[in-house]
Amino acid sequence: MVSLDAKLSAAVGGPTAKALGTHLELHTVGDLLRHYPRRYVERGALTPFLDLVEGEHATVFAEVQGTTGKRLRPNLYKTDVVIRDAEGARMTLAVFNKPWIEKDLRAGRRAYFSGKAERFNGRMQLANPEFQLVDDEAGVVAEEFAGTLLPIYPAAAKVASLTVQRSVRVALDVVDLGPDPLPDELRARHRLLGLAEALRLIHQPTSYGDVTRAQKRLKWDEAFVLQVVLAQRRAVTRSLAGTPRAPRPGGLLEAFDAALPFSLTAGQQQVGRELAGEMSSSSPMYRLLQGEVGSGKTVVALRAMLQVVDSGGQAALLAPTEVLAQQHARSLRAMLGPLAQAGELGAADVATRIALLTGSQGAAARRTALAEAASGEAGIVVGTHALLSEGVAFADLGLVVVDEQHRFGVEQRDALRAKGSTPPHVLVMTATPIPRTIAMTVYGDLEVSTLTELPKGRSPIKSAVVPVGEKPAWLDTAWQRVREQVAEGRQAFVVTPRIGGEEEPAAADGKRPAAAVLDVLPLLQEGPLQGLRVAALHGRMPPEDKDAVMQRFTAGQLDVLVATTVIEVGVDVPNATVMVVLDADRFGVSQLHQLRGRVGRGAHAALCLLVTEAEGGSPSRERLEAVAGTNDGFELSRIDLEQRREGDVLGASQSGGRSSLRMLRLADHEELILEARAEAVRLVADDPALRRHPALAQAVVDVLDEERAEFLAKG
Ligand code: ADP
Ligand code: MG
Repeated sequence: MVSLDAKLSAAVGGPTAKALGTHLELHTVGDLLRHYPRRYVERGALTPFLDLVEGEHATVFAEVQGTTGKRLRPNLYKTDVVIRDAEGARMTLAVFNKPWIEKDLRAGRRAYFSGKAERFNGRMQLANPEFQLVDDEAGVVAEEFAGTLLPIYPAAAKVASLTVQRSVRVALDVVDLGPDPLPDELRARHRLLGLAEALRLIHQPTSYGDVTRAQKRLKWDEAFVLQVVLAQRRAVTRSLAGTPRAPRPGGLLEAFDAALPFSLTAGQQQVGRELAGEMSSSSPMYRLLQGEVGSGKTVVALRAMLQVVDSGGQAALLAPTEVLAQQHARSLRAMLGPLAQAGELGAADVATRIALLTGSQGAAARRTALAEAASGEAGIVVGTHALLSEGVAFADLGLVVVDEQHRFGVEQRDALRAKGSTPPHVLVMTATPIPRTIAMTVYGDLEVSTLTELPKGRSPIKSAVVPVGEKPAWLDTAWQRVREQVAEGRQAFVVTPRIGGEEEPAAADGKRPAAAVLDVLPLLQEGPLQGLRVAALHGRMPPEDKDAVMQRFTAGQLDVLVATTVIEVGVDVPNATVMVVLDADRFGVSQLHQLRGRVGRGAHAALCLLVTEAEGGSPSRERLEAVAGTNDGFELSRIDLEQRREGDVLGASQSGGRSSLRMLRLADHEELILEARAEAVRLVADDPALRRHPALAQAVVDVLDEERAEFLAKG
């Protein structure tokens, strides 16, 4: 018997183990047993050849029509095997130097053939096919095909599904799974198979009912172990003692609310109460605030910061880019007015100060900001990653607000938390709305608040795809729209995927390089936008220049900003009403939604035009149509997710790669995840260190190791 973490070579032959390792990244017995079939084919149903996809490894079940063999050269013998499918379609397979197969492949015998589907002389073929007869000449079915369902594995071009199937069979026979990681009562409550049975049935089912029952159990493994990890993290966070930061009557927050030029939406008030209550407690708040673009998260965060300042603490606001940090500092100062001018003429009695810390600022400005943070003079410190560096100290850090968290990792959040003398309250804001189950998983150690409504008086953003491949003239109409809006006193964004300039090599895949700021700018200035005040904004500009351009745009001294995604997050210019995105198909769904959120932030109707050469019906075009078709960020993030897979959900990185989730789809298995979460919370409350659940503890360690290895590999 071998354990799950035994090397594959302990179970299957050396060459097979090597092939599975090299081509499918399967190295241990556990890897192999968790390499689940992609689908199943019913034994006896011949595979329609029409279903074959060129370039894919395929297994077909077909009937032999006959063979003809011929010696082409002294050392080259070729057998043509003609097979047919259920509809009578024929395919000829060429097999070289295996004359002996001719006696097996007699007319009428049925067999599985596998190989890579390739087109040869205009006809679909299986290259270098392997075959497996399912019955002998008397029609007796071989044991390995005794099941009614044949598993088809996600095979690589060089490893046949049949090879995987055989290796799995051996592994199932020799593996010792040890105690089941899912506790018995839990399995009984949810009617879950034992692990050994589930693994056997997923690989060797006799009915689709078997497959479903096995899948349910294996999904539970993934969901439950993950939720146990997250429940443990939450338990640790909660067990820390923080400092209560209760509201203070007659303080900054009251003064701010009294001067607010608009009334808060019901959602802002509700979330505000939630935050106020949690920050008043000695158990540190650890909350995610998500909300549609433009839903007014900043005001909510600012009010929380003011409550903390009122109670004698400080708040830090961490932003992902310099542009955004500067903009935040500027807009917080503007919103607070005299309330942020402590020590200056005309300051309010209760006033505080806002300090800004960024990597690029001059030495003098930095010294002042550092001193204000360390002395406590600055109640609010805004900054980029620079806030995390060692030289930055606070008098009494009470609240950390992380804006647009998808750009920050858990480690960075923790680095900032460590700057408080007691663990500060934490508020993470994200404008990428995510479905509940994903929020619970990706941000599973955070509680979630959601702002769903937009402030009153917003007119919805209209979006349209501009297919320049089919309708080149529509591009002129787009520029016309920009001119019209500018004529009415509004402003516009033109967004491109690239900056341009010598540093960027041409695209390697033969595609035309995407539109670039530096190329588009002069073309627009001399062409369709002649006479307008147009400027560029991109990441390679020196920070002072970026800031200057942003300030001029905000002040209405520029009509059009030609920019990269530096404007993606947080830029707030309510007078901007049109956005033209060039080569829109080069952006992701959520990214486009973020970009689009830069317009429609005021009372004027807004328009977003997605310019693309992608053809009608292509996947890229469909993504764009989806973005144009809805303003619902939750819906769009669901679409995005379906295309991306979940990625590793525990680590700092949140995209791509193979994760511990193989069978569970966060978007599809909401109910199961909720149940698993409830079970995990219950179990962790009862046995926080999993002392009484050693097999589960081991499964937790395995998942964490895998996520960590994945993260390290990605660098
Ligand atoms: P986001 O959630 O995208 O960060 P912001 O906080 O930047 O949104 O708010 C978008 C704009 O709406 C800002 O100009 C802000 O001042 C304004 N705003 C926020 N709350 C309200 C409200 N209740 N009524 C009217 N305008 C509001
Ligand atoms: Mg914002």
